Amino acid sequence: MADKRDYYEVLGVSRQASADELKKAYRKLAKKYHPDINPGNEEAEAAFKEINEAYSVLSDEEKRSQYDRFGHSAFDGTGGFSGFDGFGFGGLDDLFETFMGGAFRRSGSNRNNQPARGKDRRFSLEITFEEAAFGAEKEITITRMQACGTCKGTGSKPGSKVEKCKQCQGSGQIRYTRPSVFGQYVELQTCNTCGGKGKIILEPCETCNGNERVSKNSRISLIIPAGIDNGQTISLKSEGDAGLRGGPAGDLYVTIHIKPHEIFKREGYDVVCDIPISFTQAALGAEIDIPTLEGIIKYNIPEGTQTGTVFRLKGKGIKRLRSESKGDQYIRVNVEVPKKLSSRQKEILREFAEISGDEGLEQKKGFFEKVKDLFTE
Ligand SMILES: [Zn+2]
Ligand SMILES: [Zn+2]
Repeated sequence: MADKRDYYEVLGVSRQASADELKKAYRKLAKKYHPDINPGNEEAEAAFKEINEAYSVLSDEEKRSQYDRFGHSAFDGTGGFSGFDGFGFGGLDDLFETFMGGAFRRSGSNRNNQPARGKDRRFSLEITFEEAAFGAEKEITITRMQACGTCKGTGSKPGSKVEKCKQCQGSGQIRYTRPSVFGQYVELQTCNTCGGKGKIILEPCETCNGNERVSKNSRISLIIPAGIDNGQTISLKSEGDAGLRGGPAGDLYVTIHIKPHEIFKREGYDVVCDIPISFTQAALGAEIDIPTLEGIIKYNIPEGTQTGTVFRLKGKGIKRLRSESKGDQYIRVNVEVPKKLSSRQKEILREFAEISGDEGLEQKKGFFEKVKDLFTE
């Protein structure tokens, strides 16, 4: 008892410290020395013990006054704590949850020996416009962690001996008894000797160096559903990294990027394209070839079609995901004016202009009437 530090000194507060000041000091120190952030550090463990003991006394009004009068001799051995026994496992954690908002939930080192899920993997896949429209089967190659084939994921050289860890008797965990505000509680910590595996590998597998997994390229086939759009992601369950110690594998997420098409643009499930037509086709009407996703079809442009007119081809778009229905195709016609004309063509067009004037050109007439109105008043 003689070498025990003064409880006020332990918490770094004055003898007049208020309950609030005590609590603050305790929180700060407990956070610093908590075994979860200092795994295997015996000094921190001892400090943590000391802090808890000091706080458990000073935070109790009655005990504090006893301590103030009689010092450590007020509490012979663990007698001072005996009344608080029975909270058992987790008691201190509950206290921490209340204090720290759950920041010290039992996690980290004492879970090391448990099965761990493999990491998810991500992959970016570029496909063509048609593959997106009709669906496709693709093969991709990804690099991921896979169970080592040599040791079958055990980490031990085939045929070599594996010893049960003597320190933890193969459980991978060591039981510690800790004092807390509420009395003693039992904590399980990862065994340092075996790293939580419960066994000692005498000869590690030479392929994976005892790590159970190796990084490997794998070919994975993938069904692209018809109708998938740019930026959408396909998830493949359990095709990510292999798990550790029997844990499940992670998933694989493949994000789709669709290459632009030379002719078609996509708007949702609709397909849009521009079709150039000649001014005579526009004026006289014509049967023209229209490219669709399923091939070329004939389409009748009515006479007097204006440039920029959009026609809709129902059901010629892209199949909707999880549906049999399809979007539409929109074609926008652009009337092209010839840049080079032969003298014979010019002659005919001049004659055409002479005999037609502005006849039939409603927009032009309307426009110039407005211009006239503007300048004559
Ligand atoms: Zn191996
Ligand atoms: Zn062990």
